[in-house]
Amino acid sequence: MSQFAYRSGELCCEGVPLRRLADTTGTPTYVYSAATLRDSYAAYERAFREVPHVICYALKANGSLAVVSTLARLGAGADIVSGGELFLALRAGVPPGKIIFSGVGKTREEMREALKAGILQFNVESASELAALDEVARAMGTRAPVALRVNPDVDPQTHPYIATGLRTSKFGVPIAEALQLYERAAGMDGLRITGAQMHIGSQLTKAAPFADAVARLGALVKSLRERSVEMQSVDVGGGLGIVYDAETPPSPAEYAATLLPVLRELGLTVLLEPGRSLVGEAGVLLSRVLYRKTTGAKQFVVVDAAMNDLIRPSLYQAYHAIRPVSEARMAGPTETVDVVGPVCESGDFLARERTMPRVEENDLVAVMSAGAYAFAMASNYNARPRPAEVLVDGDRYTIVRRRETFEDLVAGETVP
Ligand SMILES: *Cc1c(COP(=O)(O)O)cnc(C)c1O
Repeated sequence: MSQFAYRSGELCCEGVPLRRLADTTGTPTYVYSAATLRDSYAAYERAFREVPHVICYALKANGSLAVVSTLARLGAGADIVSGGELFLALRAGVPPGKIIFSGVGKTREEMREALKAGILQFNVESASELAALDEVARAMGTRAPVALRVNPDVDPQTHPYIATGLRTSKFGVPIAEALQLYERAAGMDGLRITGAQMHIGSQLTKAAPFADAVARLGALVKSLRERSVEMQSVDVGGGLGIVYDAETPPSPAEYAATLLPVLRELGLTVLLEPGRSLVGEAGVLLSRVLYRKTTGAKQFVVVDAAMNDLIRPSLYQAYHAIRPVSEARMAGPTETVDVVGPVCESGDFLARERTMPRVEENDLVAVMSAGAYAFAMASNYNARPRPAEVLVDGDRYTIVRRRETFEDLVAGETVP
């Protein structure tokens, strides 16, 4: 059940009307539902309960401390992609022993920091990176826990920018070369092989690509066993899609049902790296209508949120539903509009050619499913302070990140 629903004529997050949040914190503001975070996490826990598993939340989806610590308190680990995310994960209370370090471009300094912290696993993406990690770990007199990120070469049928498991992608080691690289890693004194990993893309709405990929990964693990390369875990990555429009992504239970036949047989600890599916539907971007504007051919609704606050529509042609906060508008006339922000780019839009209830100047609107890759991708373009963030829990709410000020915009700058 969605925690964003109309009550007494107003769109609410759990027990708190969005209008009240707009009145106290202004707009644009990101609003998150703690209950949705807990429900999403619990759905994964239930789905994989029959195998030993660790859910390592992919922090890049939303690295705000309040969100990460809500998940950490439930037992989540973290999948990180930078030294900055290592800092955030530790600051949010994620135990180092549940942190996985992913990404094609880890620096030696980041490797050292993560080794010092004592993380669970490095997901290594190339022969060069493997050699670098071996060297760094030996210099520290330790062994780095390593999984190879294997590219299973399956088409995840998603947007090209977020497809990562194809042969042409920059990510992972081609599955045909993985055996050889594992054998090389097994002979390196600075490494300890812990597992194998895949991550084929994001916003996947069908189970079939996951099934194909895990079958290939499972076959690799078995071949490695035959060559006496043993491991403790298998990491199936993230990528499960959410509902933005009319998608029907598998639920965590359906996703698990796809993977479990292979995973059960391997008998290893299962590592999961969900990002979007834990936080995406837990957030909205609350914004106010500034102006209505008609040009010859088009009707525009200009709102106070823009591509610097939420870049997904501009970057991926992503769809976000936009709902009026006042339920009365839902019963009124509809119209087809472009919903755009104040940024000086024609690519600055939140929706194009969208048929939606007519909204008026000064109305509040909620841009839905904005919990993932939303605030995390916000910038200060056009010298726009980044939005505030609010976490709602039942009838209570907390401003978990204050709106940036103009002074924040120049903090760290020097004029010589
Ligand atoms: C981005 C990413 C994830 C999370 O992907 P979602 O689609 O948000 O679930 C998991 N693992 C790796 C390696 C990633 O890069």
